[in-house]
Amino acid sequence: MNDVNILAKIIKESKNLVFFGGAGMSTESGIPDFRSAGGIYSQRLNQEFTPEEMASHSFLVKHPEEFFDFYRNRMMFIKAKPNEGHYALSRLEKLGILKAVITQNIDGLHQLAGSNKVYELHGSSLRWSCMTCGRSYPMEYALEEDSLPIPHCEDCGGIVRPDVVLYEEGLDNNVLSQAVEAISKADTMIVGGTSLIVYPAAGLIDYFSGNHLILINKSQTRADNRSELVIREPIGKTLSAAVKILEENI
Ligand code: NAD
Repeated sequence: MNDVNILAKIIKESKNLVFFGGAGMSTESGIPDFRSAGGIYSQRLNQEFTPEEMASHSFLVKHPEEFFDFYRNRMMFIKAKPNEGHYALSRLEKLGILKAVITQNIDGLHQLAGSNKVYELHGSSLRWSCMTCGRSYPMEYALEEDSLPIPHCEDCGGIVRPDVVLYEEGLDNNVLSQAVEAISKADTMIVGGTSLIVYPAAGLIDYFSGNHLILINKSQTRADNRSELVIREPIGKTLSAAVKILEENI
């Protein structure tokens, strides 16, 4: 049996599957990840600052113009569409097998593909809000000409920023505890498209105590050696092929 068939069989036998993913989930949608060759970290963006520094809270406060320029040009992909992997996960939820998607991504593509139970550990680029009064704005607001170079609140004049977790910022406790609960209850967990380097998000997989841990990632991760199955193929194509086999055998 090849890896995709094994994956399909494990998924079919699962009663409580969770998916834990990262930026690699969306590379097949044309959104670069951070750490692959060709990812955001390999691009020479700015002579002075690294991408990690530019995606940090202190950079937003000290260099707001450069922050918003970086954010608009490198972190927003308004035309990106879900890929076959996002759709495969959404079908698994509808079949009652997949109980939650836990993602480090901020692109909203799981929801666009139809997934309902999505825990966004790092927030979403689609939602923006005023840092002073909290008024919400859609992401399009940040792209309007009047919002250049720094978007300001129409009510109070405060800075309007994306509702994402920047470096140096804490994760939302509510999202975190729901994600931990979903992982703790799972009998199968698929981890994919993530380098498992960004903490505390990457540490969440340690709450998994179910039967089947599956890794789908192009490069090596710290969880490979405890995974039952490690697949080094593109995650979108792999998930889609496995779910197709599963649907044909229901
Ligand atoms: P990362 O860039 O550190 O790692 C991505 C991993 O995915 C790599 O190990 C790479 O080998 C693998 N990969 C890339 N394409 C793949 C594919 N098609 N199939 C299988 N594996 C593939 O990303 P990370 O671990 O998510 O952590 C970095 C941070 O990046 C996260 O906090 C996230 O918020 C942020 N980020 C998000 C997006 C997005 O929302 N789409 C994009 C870039 C960065």
